[in-house]
Amino acid sequence: MEDRGKNPMGTKMLNYQLKEEEVVAEIQELNAQMVGLQFPDGLRVHATGLARKIEKETGATTLISGDSCYGACDLSDRSMEGLVDVLIHWGHTALPLDYRVPVLFVEAYSTMEVFGSVKKALKFIEDYETIGLVTTTQHLHLLDDLAKYLEENGKKVQMGVGKGTLRGQVLGCNFSSASGLRADAFLYIGSGNFHPLGLKLSTNKPVIIADPYMNEARIIDEFTDRILRKRFAKITLSAGAKSFGIIVSSKEGQMRLEMAKSLKKLIQDQDREAYLILLDNIRPDLLMAFRDSDVFVVTACPRIAIDDDQIYEKPLITPYELEIALGIRDWEDYQLDEIIYE
Ligand code: SF4
Repeated sequence: MEDRGKNPMGTKMLNYQLKEEEVVAEIQELNAQMVGLQFPDGLRVHATGLARKIEKETGATTLISGDSCYGACDLSDRSMEGLVDVLIHWGHTALPLDYRVPVLFVEAYSTMEVFGSVKKALKFIEDYETIGLVTTTQHLHLLDDLAKYLEENGKKVQMGVGKGTLRGQVLGCNFSSASGLRADAFLYIGSGNFHPLGLKLSTNKPVIIADPYMNEARIIDEFTDRILRKRFAKITLSAGAKSFGIIVSSKEGQMRLEMAKSLKKLIQDQDREAYLILLDNIRPDLLMAFRDSDVFVVTACPRIAIDDDQIYEKPLITPYELEIALGIRDWEDYQLDEIIYE
């Protein structure tokens, strides 16, 4: 999908390739005078260094977004509309959204060594013939080498292109690159447990993690069981709720107003109350005013209800979890919420 943004290749800076030479060349070619810069939280420490280089070498003025950014669902294009000629966004790949300003996506590949953890993962996949290979944006450039390594170790490797994601890429809310594959098991390259959890629940196949940050390999089963127990406790609490706050995100890539409206109707059909609440960033202090709501249903980023539930006083649940709480979806049909772009 070439309209997903240009992906210049390039130079190395600390743990990431930030491709500054290519970014400078692109700004010069566009003759941009005002340039927006946006980073995920972990990369924003590079902002002023990159701004200095861009201003010196192109003569453009830069405008750095200081807000948190968690994905391409959360671009500064709306706040920078009319202010910049181009927005440079590091760290994520484009989603099929109508961005309001021209956006140059810079994938910011990690330079971390990953093969040590993949080698450790071999013992976990020895019983499986065909392996589905997936990772997050920062390791995408290694997929072909990783596939070759697995093939040299006797495996057949499958990688899929998702809806709104690149070959082998998963997001925290989108596992579509894996769901069509006929793999015996999946090998996830990356840190954390959330992506493998989603992969497990979405494919129902064994999932092995090769984690280069911990230099270890592990399986996701125990973590999955722990999370499911917690989620079922939240669903049980929600089943008796009388009033629901349904959170709608104002971020373009997380906005699911039509879904929120249909959830409101499902709730009202059972003679219970439901209100739609529009939020940009979702925080416990912002929900405190809604004292009447027993439960909050999050139609924004699916990670919020799962990752952050312990910091909220009231239960936060996903749309699928609401359906189980209302008795219109079976417990056996539990699945993680995804935002899939058609
Ligand atoms: S909705 Fe959440 S998981 Fe999906 S891309 Fe945005 S921040 Fe990531």
